[in-house]
Amino acid sequence: MVIRRALIVDAMLGSLARKLRIYGFDTVYDKDSEDSSMLVAAKTESRTLVTCDKELHKLAVQRNLQSILLNKGLEVEKMVEVISGLDLKPLRICPEESRCPLCNGDLIGVSNLIAPSSIPQSIRQRHQRFYICRLCGKSYWEGSHWEKISSFSADVEERLSLQ
Ligand SMILES: [Zn+2]
Repeated sequence: MVIRRALIVDAMLGSLARKLRIYGFDTVYDKDSEDSSMLVAAKTESRTLVTCDKELHKLAVQRNLQSILLNKGLEVEKMVEVISGLDLKPLRICPEESRCPLCNGDLIGVSNLIAPSSIPQSIRQRHQRFYICRLCGKSYWEGSHWEKISSFSADVEERLSLQ
């Protein structure tokens, strides 16, 4: 299992924050968070700041905090910058290590035999493995959304290999 730094992501990067959680990063994200409170959380919780904001990055560096300044490019490029910035390449998505994209909770993997009955039976029959968030209770499985995230992950991996 790869040891991942805990992160705090700036308010502009909500979609990236959800993907970082799927990649298994403990990621604090709040769309209403102020710069000052993010810097405090980065320090007290030893989180690496991930931001597109040059000023915020500068403030973090002045306070001796770890910070990754992203370019304003595609999301896939941002993910590559985070993974190589943390020296974790090549990092792949492993659902057993993913966190809940909505709330950052830990996911527990369960077989379809004990998957919650709130998941329609037709889906429980088609998939072997389900992941349930310990915090918010949301269930995940490798459905159609999974195909999008795996092609995103394949794109990230290819770009990392070209670096
Ligand atoms: Zn959750």
